[in-house]
Amino acid sequence: MVVSAPSGAGKTSICREIMRQFPNIRFSVSSTTRPPRPGEVDGKDYEFISPEEFQERRARGEFFEWVEKFGQYYGTSKKAMDAFLSQGYDLILDIESRGAKAVRAQFPRGIFIFILPPSLGELKSRLYVRGESAEIMEYRLQSSLDEIREALWYDYIILNEKLEEAVDRFRAVYVAERSCRERFTERIEAFFNEGSS
Ligand code: 5GP
Repeated sequence: MVVSAPSGAGKTSICREIMRQFPNIRFSVSSTTRPPRPGEVDGKDYEFISPEEFQERRARGEFFEWVEKFGQYYGTSKKAMDAFLSQGYDLILDIESRGAKAVRAQFPRGIFIFILPPSLGELKSRLYVRGESAEIMEYRLQSSLDEIREALWYDYIILNEKLEEAVDRFRAVYVAERSCRERFTERIEAFFNEGSS
């Protein structure tokens, strides 16, 4: 599952709660050159690495996708992704829309979810709560609006008015997708294979 949202949409809280409820869903920990924010844990929220290391890894082709955003680099590690998927876990990739498009090119059957704040007014007030300068706020608002434009090509939109309801909607998407007929082809065939042996 690829989850994108503008900043201030509440994506992190929703993803955390979903992973608490479904232990078979793991988080794809990205590598980034941006410094950790208070409370962020290296190896859990991100793998915090230097710009030099990022470039080296990128040159070695270790990233499934990577982007530069707000002057920092972010990338999804191929190895970490493969390790989880080969063990049968479902994965959440918390990445922005350019990265999401790159993932869709290789995983068209992935589930692409966009988390939307309820309104422009609410988005503004959520961004302003963070207490940054007016200039940075304006920049963040514009970046959020640019990101929201991309929502149109995602499979599902989750409106985050109240955290609990947004989590319910996310859960509904996940459970329905898990029950999708195409994911059961082998299981259905197995009934007949056993029957004939
Ligand atoms: P933040 O610095 O606020 O944690 O993240 C900034 C943006 O980068 C968010 O939209 C987040 O989803 C996105 N992001 C985080 N990791 C990756 C990644 O590995 N690839 C891409 N494409 N975007 C990422």
